[in-house]
Amino acid sequence: MKKFLSVALVLVLTACMFVGCGKKDKKTLTMATNAYFPPYEYYDGDDIVGIDVEIAQAIADKLDMKLKVEDMEFDSIITAVTAGKADIGLAGMTVTEDRLKSINFSDSYAKGVQVVIVKEGSDIQSIDDLAGKKIGVQLATTGDIYATDDFGSECVEQYNKGNDAVMALVSGKVDAVIIDNEPAKSFVAANSGLVILETEYVTEDYAACIAKDNTELLEKVNDALAELKADGTLQKIIDKYIKAE
Ligand code: GLN
Repeated sequence: MKKFLSVALVLVLTACMFVGCGKKDKKTLTMATNAYFPPYEYYDGDDIVGIDVEIAQAIADKLDMKLKVEDMEFDSIITAVTAGKADIGLAGMTVTEDRLKSINFSDSYAKGVQVVIVKEGSDIQSIDDLAGKKIGVQLATTGDIYATDDFGSECVEQYNKGNDAVMALVSGKVDAVIIDNEPAKSFVAANSGLVILETEYVTEDYAACIAKDNTELLEKVNDALAELKADGTLQKIIDKYIKAE
C-alpha cells in the first residue's frame, strides 16, 4: 500500500510537471515604456494602462507569459531592450531607419502623426511658420529629430516628458510643441487655450522594439500581432481608447 501511494505520488508529480501545475511558473515578458504618453501609456493611480499595455498583455497571453511593465525615460527604452533588461519596448515608438540600426521592430500595430500644438491666436499657422520660433519637443523622439533637422537645434527645446514641453508652451517659454497626435489631443484637452494645427507634420508607424539577437521573440510577437489583427482584438483595444471623431 505504501509503495502504491508513493508510485501514485510520483505519477501525479510527473503529470504536474508536464501540464504545469498552477500558473505560477509562467515566464515573464518585460515591457519597457514611458508612461506619460496617453492614450498609449499613462498612469491610472499606481497602474500603467493604455493601448500599448493592453496590446502587450494580449501578446503575453498568446505566448502564455506574464506581463511586467517597467516605466523609464523614453530615451532609455532602446538601451534597456538591447541590454536585455527588458524583452520588448512599446511606447508609441516610431519605426525609423536610424533606430533599426540598433534594434529590430515588430510589424506595425498603429499609425502616428507628428502634429504642432500652439496657443490659440498664435501667428504660427503652418509648418513653415515655425522657422525661427522656439519649438518644444520630448527628448529623443521623432518630433525632436525632425524639428532639429528642419529648423536647427538652436530653435529646439528638449524636455524629458511631452507634458513638460506642453507646460512650457502654456507658460510662454516655447512658441509651439511638436508631438504625436493622440498625446497632443489629451494634452490640449487638459489645458485651455491650446490648439493643434490642421497641417500634419509627419506620418509614422508605431511598432514594438525587440533586441536584434532575439529573433525568436520577434517571430512570436509578429505571429501574435497577426492573430490579434485578424480576430479584431487590436482594433477593439485601439477603439477603447481612441474615439472616432
Ligand atoms: N513616436 C515618437 C517616437 O517614437 C514619440 C514616442 C514617445 O514619446 N513615447 O519618437
